[in-house]
Amino acid sequence: MSITLMCLFGSPANAQDLVIVGAKVYPSPDASAILDATVVVRGGVIAAVGPSSQVERGPSDRIISGDGLVVVAGLWNSHVHLLLPSMALPPGENAEALSNELEGMLTRWGFTTVFDIASLPGAAIDLRRRIESGDVRGPNILTVDAPFFPNGGTPIYLRELLKGLPSMEVGTPEAAAARARRQLNGGADAVKIFAGAIVGGEIGVLPMPLEDAKAVVAEAHRHGKPAFAHPSNQEGLEVTIESGVDVLAHTTPDDGKRWTPELVGRLTSHDMALIPTLTLWKVSPFPSERTVALAQQQLAAFAAAGGDVLFGTDAGYIQTSDTSEEYRLMQGAGLSFEQILASLTTTPAARFSIRSKGRIEVGMDADLTVLAADPANHIEAFADVAYTIRGGRVIFQSRR
Ligand SMILES: [Zn+2]
Repeated sequence: MSITLMCLFGSPANAQDLVIVGAKVYPSPDASAILDATVVVRGGVIAAVGPSSQVERGPSDRIISGDGLVVVAGLWNSHVHLLLPSMALPPGENAEALSNELEGMLTRWGFTTVFDIASLPGAAIDLRRRIESGDVRGPNILTVDAPFFPNGGTPIYLRELLKGLPSMEVGTPEAAAARARRQLNGGADAVKIFAGAIVGGEIGVLPMPLEDAKAVVAEAHRHGKPAFAHPSNQEGLEVTIESGVDVLAHTTPDDGKRWTPELVGRLTSHDMALIPTLTLWKVSPFPSERTVALAQQQLAAFAAAGGDVLFGTDAGYIQTSDTSEEYRLMQGAGLSFEQILASLTTTPAARFSIRSKGRIEVGMDADLTVLAADPANHIEAFADVAYTIRGGRVIFQSRR
């Protein structure tokens, strides 16, 4: 039976047993590629992977020809915002629209897991519940839930969106810790502070007082969860470092300063991870080649010092979903194919302690991204996705 017919007759709800035959497989950034490989998925986990001549396929609901295709572990986008237009519609009417929006923004770019690092209160947790119940088709979601702004520091670009909602400013350290506790107990996987908030006017960037930042970060750590920060500038970076934040949501090219070896050394000695979001500086209201080049310098210095780099695009805040540019810019900063693959797979899985994801190995979750070309030859191929498979289910398939 041809592949097309298999697809038409396979029931997506039960398509948990599948086999990919004859693909090139990169099991992880530090393992050699397997040419003409077979991957067997049973019950949502990887049952076998290896050269096709050595793998016993057994019966399967679905066979995907991997001819000319390249398989990597399911990709992570560690910086997104789940602010989807259809979230405003009644839950009974928006399942298909939400599925389509998640596809356009995330799954068609190969993402099987995303970290939502600020959205409207409760919205990402609610969406995750709907995805897990099968009502909506989408990726695995981790979320910080609502963010924490400094007092008087609701960012200028978010004021319209947040009008009419309870303030997300810190108030007192005690009140902020109480909200962090509520969010973490309610299902949030982390917290996010605006260590430096862009408020415009005379002030420009308003830093969060250290005591306020520490209160929120300490609460996350008490729950065994990480803290993210939006730094904006080097003053914000100081708050980030001193409060014990774990993940930087951006570099800081806006203030025009290079990252020195001394600054990078402080970031890495605090075991901070970095999400580059290089594309953001290209699509910002004031794009400049100089800002992009500075962001690349900051990423390069951080990566050269051995810091953990997490792939992330700010999708949902920026209008662009296409990830090709981000890969080009990361490569332009000097990152290798292996480093970029790690930022998409093993590094986030390790950083966020999801031990069942990040590699194509027997027993791991069958989260797989199937590419139409080899990103080792041509880095934009990471954005050329043929299939996105989450827990053995095909959640996106290219129509080409
Ligand atoms: Zn963002």
